[in-house]
Amino acid sequence: RGGIDFSNVTFGYSKEKIILKNVSFNIGPGKIVALVGPSGAGKSTIMRLLFRFYDVNGGSILIDGQNIKTVTQSSLRKSIGVVPQDTVLFNQTIKYNIKYGRITADEHDVITAARSADIHEKILTFPQQYETQVGERGLRLSGGEKQRVAIARTILKAPQIVLLDEATSALDTTTERNIQSALARVCSNKTTLIIAHRLSTIIHADEILVMNDGQIVERGKHEQLLEEN
Ligand code: ADP
Ligand code: ADP
Repeated sequence: RGGIDFSNVTFGYSKEKIILKNVSFNIGPGKIVALVGPSGAGKSTIMRLLFRFYDVNGGSILIDGQNIKTVTQSSLRKSIGVVPQDTVLFNQTIKYNIKYGRITADEHDVITAARSADIHEKILTFPQQYETQVGERGLRLSGGEKQRVAIARTILKAPQIVLLDEATSALDTTTERNIQSALARVCSNKTTLIIAHRLSTIIHADEILVMNDGQIVERGKHEQLLEEN
């Protein structure tokens, strides 16, 4: 599950300016796909449409054959997990941040998710620091660690589709790659993963969709596209 089908999707944030022009592509369930292209190409817009942050102006988006317009907002948002580029955490413990509203979450599941996202050690190493509210200083986690907390949260949620938007990420390349591999590992073939990013820093992808000026201009494998671009 988690197949995605964009069919002639047209979209603009305002009537005056069309951003996506007849975008069509499909992603098989369980695939890892990278969405690459220059800043402003429309990568984040595609993710926002998938999450129904906005509705399309023309065309359709199907998930597992069902038009997302006919799915309730809450069920759509349950089936899609988003790992944002800048994770803002609550000024609370790591565990609290991983659970994020899921207060009945099983302790064992929380730890398993933390381990999968490789943030488990932070819970163990600094129990005092992170198990208590730390006031104005907030959680002292690096940008990469915060993103790992967001990944753990997503793993716990176990959605069919995971969106990783690193389109304008400020993280260093090594951190980005670590995060991509952590996600790719946990998604394996049960979850569809879409990564929006720069081509050069994409490592794990079954396929790459290249966007430019609101259109998919190329689609192929990593090595092939790296050679051409
Ligand atoms: P990318 O993620 O590839 O950098 P975006 O999807 O963020 O690109 O942006 C695509 C285009 O849509 C850009 O021209 C951008 O200026 C415009 N855009 C993005 N978000 C908004 C918004 N909230 N309102 C109006 N225009 C927007
Ligand atoms: P960044 O690389 O994003 O600038 P920092 O330099 O803030 O990250 O943190 C690097 C590492 O040091 C992280 O693992 C973070 O958890 C840890 N750290 C930062 N500040 C403290 C602190 N006051 N107490 C304990 N650990 C800290």
